[in-house]
Amino acid sequence: MSKYEPSAPPPAAPPSYSEVMGGVPPSAPLTAAQPITPGPTIVTTVVPLGPRATHMVCPHCYAEIETSTKTTPGLIAYISGTVIALLGCFWGCCLIPCCVESCMDVHHNCPNCKAFLGRYRR
Ligand SMILES: [Zn+2]
Repeated sequence: MSKYEPSAPPPAAPPSYSEVMGGVPPSAPLTAAQPITPGPTIVTTVVPLGPRATHMVCPHCYAEIETSTKTTPGLIAYISGTVIALLGCFWGCCLIPCCVESCMDVHHNCPNCKAFLGRYRR
């Protein structure tokens, strides 16, 4: 009788980790696959620009600014102005102010970096 008596025969081939976990290789645990988290809040230029100065964050210099507006005559203003000029003798000049005012585009610029932020079209 020898002193060495194994109680049970050693297993021939222990199941590997991938087999136990159902085919997932141990080198790529699920915890490593982190979802793509959005970074800091992205400041977009999609800001509802109105006919007046808008409080927003400038996408160029990232400063909190109040947009400086400047009204410029749009294409419709030129067309209507031409039409009004042609029909002025028939309709009179009383229509010019309201038409010109309603056809003015409002350009928004950053007062800090002078960047063009957008245009409000009536
Ligand atoms: Zn700016």
